[in-house]
Amino acid sequence: MKLVDTHCHLQAHAFDEDREEVIQRSLETLDWLVVVGDDIATSQAAVALARPGVYAAVGVHPYHAQAVNDNVIAELREVARQPGVVALGEFGLDYYKYSDTPRETQEEAFRRQLELAAELQLPVVIHNRDAQDDIIRVIDEYASGLAGGIMHCFSGDAALAAKCAQWGFHVSFAGNVTFPKAQPLRDVAATISLDKILVETDSPYLAPQPVRGKRCEPHWVLHTAKTLAEVMDVDFDAFVRQTTENASALFQPERARAALA
Ligand SMILES: [Zn+2]
Ligand SMILES: [Zn+2]
Repeated sequence: MKLVDTHCHLQAHAFDEDREEVIQRSLETLDWLVVVGDDIATSQAAVALARPGVYAAVGVHPYHAQAVNDNVIAELREVARQPGVVALGEFGLDYYKYSDTPRETQEEAFRRQLELAAELQLPVVIHNRDAQDDIIRVIDEYASGLAGGIMHCFSGDAALAAKCAQWGFHVSFAGNVTFPKAQPLRDVAATISLDKILVETDSPYLAPQPVRGKRCEPHWVLHTAKTLAEVMDVDFDAFVRQTTENASALFQPERARAALA
């Protein structure tokens, strides 16, 4: 059994020089992976990369929330129906210092995409940065109508982990859980139910500890998985099998594979 990278941005410019090589390298090591969009153009680019083993998530990141209007939602609905699409996202809330999009604008775009996900019955890929209270308040309203979801690049505390369990969401960890200073995050990871945990790279960002600072590639999800298996006190092979089964249960890649054939 091989790992799944549930979240990477292989359409990013960082891969313009060697994208196909990176994809081939990734597919040699991984079972499959999900390329995630953060606006309409990068979502279309994710769909264009889709093939057996490479699937797409489509959505508008809070950084681009200002662009979200009726037309963009209509375009997103169209892109979401393309073969190879397994989820809607990433979208959510980002209150970190670099985000200059007003919170109300972010929340409006967040709600509209949650509504679209409920309509299309696609799982959601949620981006949360420094916005935990509002993330909880908004998702509480929609969770019961959703076809599952992921709290991607989890950076929350025990309260958010408990909410994810209540919503039936999966919790996905990226390379930052391997960083020396991330002990509080590892303590939360240890409490997540094994049938809800996922791993991701968020490539090209957030390369895990042994390769930190480099351009991250999907196969480096291995380092994150090793750290988490230790933290959760699970045999590594069992961890790989479990997380890949979790990802398959949520994204249903065999359905996407058939649609692409
Ligand atoms: Zn994100
Ligand atoms: Zn991302």
